[in-house]
Amino acid sequence: MTRILHRSIGPELPRAVSGDGVWITDAAGRRYLDGSGGAAVTSLGHGNAEVQAAMRAQIDAISYAHSAFFTTDAAESLADRLVGLAPEGLDHVYLVSGGSEAVEAALKMARQYFVEIGQPQRRHVIARRQSYHGNTIGALAVGGNEWRRRQFQPILPETHHVSPCYAYRDQRAGESAAEYADRLAAELEAKIRELGEDQVIAFVAEPVVGATLGAVPAVAEYFRRIRAVCDRYGVLLILDEVMCGMGRTGTIFAHTQEGVVPDLVTVAKGLGGGYQPVGAVLLSDRIYRAFAEGSGLFQHGHTYIGHPVAAAAADKVVEIMSRPGLMAHVSEMGDLLQTRLEAELGQHPHVGDIRGRGLFRGIELVADRGSKAPLDPAEKTHARIKRAAMARGLICYPMGGTIDGVRGDHVLLAPPYVIDAGEIDELVGRLVGAIRDVLG
Ligand code: PMP
Repeated sequence: MTRILHRSIGPELPRAVSGDGVWITDAAGRRYLDGSGGAAVTSLGHGNAEVQAAMRAQIDAISYAHSAFFTTDAAESLADRLVGLAPEGLDHVYLVSGGSEAVEAALKMARQYFVEIGQPQRRHVIARRQSYHGNTIGALAVGGNEWRRRQFQPILPETHHVSPCYAYRDQRAGESAAEYADRLAAELEAKIRELGEDQVIAFVAEPVVGATLGAVPAVAEYFRRIRAVCDRYGVLLILDEVMCGMGRTGTIFAHTQEGVVPDLVTVAKGLGGGYQPVGAVLLSDRIYRAFAEGSGLFQHGHTYIGHPVAAAAADKVVEIMSRPGLMAHVSEMGDLLQTRLEAELGQHPHVGDIRGRGLFRGIELVADRGSKAPLDPAEKTHARIKRAAMARGLICYPMGGTIDGVRGDHVLLAPPYVIDAGEIDELVGRLVGAIRDVLG
């Protein structure tokens, strides 16, 4: 019996003992293809010697210095690197230890910004239904996933939700992508007006929705329309790239594919690549200056912000990620993964949609392809696929999201960027086997 309170209290978990590239080996010697990089974390693969060496060098030099007293070369180098890769306008970085912390910090930055500039009446945050932004109280409140929120609802701060951009289910027959984007932008505008034109702090969204919908990109123009609505009412745009950012979709930042520059961006997961718990918020010069010229501080902080070993690991991860060729490889392998999934599963009676961008792909499972009716939640199909995949030596990330009260199942794939064509075939073969084990 384990002393750890694991996510699920149930059968004993295998013990991971080593990792190499896309592979994890357990204590019994079984090898698993890490087809989801854990939860879209393992960006560079397991056992990267350069990242390990960078961490070791930092540990040998100094492992910790509190951020109220010191900065470090590692933290400064990481911040320079991130700003250098970000679009013009995102000029500053706040370092944290993970995704939820990044979202919490971004929300507080947004609120404090309006206090600094003399608009303290602004207090509402708008996000989207069927979204996930983290499990801490503030981030959970912003998320719009009913299943994750339900029992904690009474202690969550008030937030407001509009529809996600989810073409597979919500784009109407005969409606163009531009019309659909317009409809969603109008819904956001109506919500802002309902709350009060000078009452809203921020709108929060993921460029490509990960955990709740399964790798769903927005339709073209959606983010440009959303940005325009935010600008009309002085609302800050927070893009949560904790899962889809840091190269996952074939560009270092996912939002650069949308043609917008947000006011705040959160990153984590792939930033540390699993080598260290680390996250970051990139913020615009406008927000930074409001703090600098106002109270002179950001009223926040955690013990481990800017942790030197985490920063050294992330700095090396991002340096490797931005070398010529790697993002092109992510796009190429992502296209191959999509093609192979379509070839093997495109006609499967329970596969409704195969989608995504780069090495971030989702498969939506349905009871009926024609009507798109979700599978019966009591069947817990996603959990059964996870088990069947593990039995076949594959880690994938199946989830049962909530579709307006109805649970829908999907499988998320997010393999390390070092995956090759042979390993893509292996991944698809094992996944198809697992889906067939469960759904026939
Ligand atoms: N935002 C998004 C979009 C995420 O996918 C996640 C994690 N799945 C988080 C925030 C929270 O990150 P963490 O688990 O590192 O706290």
